[in-house]
Amino acid sequence: MLGADKYIEFLSVMDECTDSYMFVFNLTDDEYLISEKAVDKFMLDGNSFDNATSVISSAVYPPDLGMLVVDVAKLQSGQSNMHNLEYRWLDKQGNPIWIACKGRVVQEGEKKLLIGSITERGKKNKYDNITSLLSESVLESDYAELGNIEHMTGFLLLIGVDNFKKINEKYGTKRGDKVLAGVAKCITECIEEGQKVYRLKGDEFAVLSLGDYDTAMTDAKELYKRIRSRIDWYIEMKDFSSFYTISGGAVAFDTSCDTYNHITDCMKFALHTAKLRGRNTFAPYSQEDYDAYIRKMDIQEELRRSIINNFEGFEVYYQPVIRAGSERLYGAEALIRWNNRVYGFMSPVEFIPLLEESSLIIPLGKWIIEQAVMQCKEWMHIIPDFTMNINLSFVQIMKSDILKDVLDCVDYHGIEHNNIVFEATESGELESNNAVKSVLNSFNNNCFRLAIDDFGTGYSNLRYIRDMLFSIIKIDRMFVKNIDKQDDNYTLVKYIIEMAHSLNINVCVEGVETEEELNKVRNLGADCIQGYYFGKPMPKDDFAEKFLGEGSKYL
Ligand code: C2E
Ligand code: CA
Ligand code: CA
Repeated sequence: MLGADKYIEFLSVMDECTDSYMFVFNLTDDEYLISEKAVDKFMLDGNSFDNATSVISSAVYPPDLGMLVVDVAKLQSGQSNMHNLEYRWLDKQGNPIWIACKGRVVQEGEKKLLIGSITERGKKNKYDNITSLLSESVLESDYAELGNIEHMTGFLLLIGVDNFKKINEKYGTKRGDKVLAGVAKCITECIEEGQKVYRLKGDEFAVLSLGDYDTAMTDAKELYKRIRSRIDWYIEMKDFSSFYTISGGAVAFDTSCDTYNHITDCMKFALHTAKLRGRNTFAPYSQEDYDAYIRKMDIQEELRRSIINNFEGFEVYYQPVIRAGSERLYGAEALIRWNNRVYGFMSPVEFIPLLEESSLIIPLGKWIIEQAVMQCKEWMHIIPDFTMNINLSFVQIMKSDILKDVLDCVDYHGIEHNNIVFEATESGELESNNAVKSVLNSFNNNCFRLAIDDFGTGYSNLRYIRDMLFSIIKIDRMFVKNIDKQDDNYTLVKYIIEMAHSLNINVCVEGVETEEELNKVRNLGADCIQGYYFGKPMPKDDFAEKFLGEGSKYL
């Protein structure tokens, strides 16, 4: 039997001398013995078993089983006596792990034994060549080792070089490597006893630090700050050729409850948070932020699913826009709604930014334009100069061929360009980005009108609005709120309207909710009014019935 003392002792001695897993495979009796530590890593229930072929088969990554079987058959038949194969085993979580398995057949009496070792391929590279630091696989095994001791606590700090990709692209990989070596040196100089540095993938470095759980995050922040000033100093003294900054994310760990995979996910998320906060900063791991991030990802996935599923759950609502003087219907603003099987009715304020971030606003925006244009055409039968206001996102303007899409749609449905107003929200981008300016100009050249949305909330300069060829400004709800009670707001809006009119720009006042507000707004001299007082955004049929139906006072 392979469990014989001789082999067991041999394996346990070898366990201490090497990172590999030693094994003895009795090819004659189909018995197997492997280092104890292999049981912690791979899908094995024990380290000694009789029905070797079947046990090993279930521990091997299925697509690689064929080549192993062929090789073992050659060893059993005597066709070969050396085994040297790279293939994959499954780890405890079922992930394939590349291993290099080497061995030689020895004859022991009647029995043929294959004696050899299995090495995790990732573990071969213990050190990183560029920085001379320990590699990620060592971090994993160091963390696993800590787990053997009760309640080891401390923190993991992940450091990333900001915009490292750009450094590589701009100055070449040689300079990139130099930056990495510099960062490695600085981190190494900052760490103390009980701390170890590792080079992870790309531009990332990790510090594993033992210490008090409760102060872990302040300790990590302190270390980050020390490293950052060391790097600043280093750049100034030695490496002025390329300037760079670093971000850091950290998580506190307790080895008795945090697995390696979980804790490294947390530390990566913390670094991601630091980068989102503008880089060159530190962020501790926050469960709340992580949950919000996961929720965001889930919503984005649902949005994607809805869009792919023929815009399932999306519906365009219409809010009336009223002529200020006659209080008759001028047109409508198209506003998107999303009713989802998981999240129910969600406000566009929440989902539009998610669509923008993932560029999903481009296909959805195209669909909204199509719906609103068709609707406009229908309602133009009742009011020939019916005006449909459609919101455009900057992502649509910057990242898609928006004018072409609009022209295709509007010309296909055969409506006058003048019946459509495109609304763009005020932002710094409007003024500073020449590409945006040129797209907006092309809208104007094609006789579409442009409105600047939420005027007063951003950079509100009438001069640049005139230069940008906006023909309408929509004054934000914020100014109208309590306009009947606040004289300041009233004076300000009146002044804006006068200035706009002097530049030949029309004004729509948004967010009129009450009769009192309306009475005040009536005296302002605006061109159009929009707000809950006249109607909330509603489905097309409700809109048609209330505003365009027979006997409507708005006709
Ligand atoms: P927005 O373009 O400023 O749209 C006006 C928002 O104010 C709408 O919110 C509307 O329901 C709300 N509103 C109108 N009158 C009143 C009022 O009297 N009182 C109050 N409290 N609110 C009023 P909604 O529909 O939730 O949309 C929010 C924002 O989401 C929009 O602000 C717009 O920025 C964006 N959005 C909505 N639909 C679309 C769309 O189809 N495309 C794009 N790109 N953005 C959209
Ligand atoms: Ca709008
Ligand atoms: Ca608005």
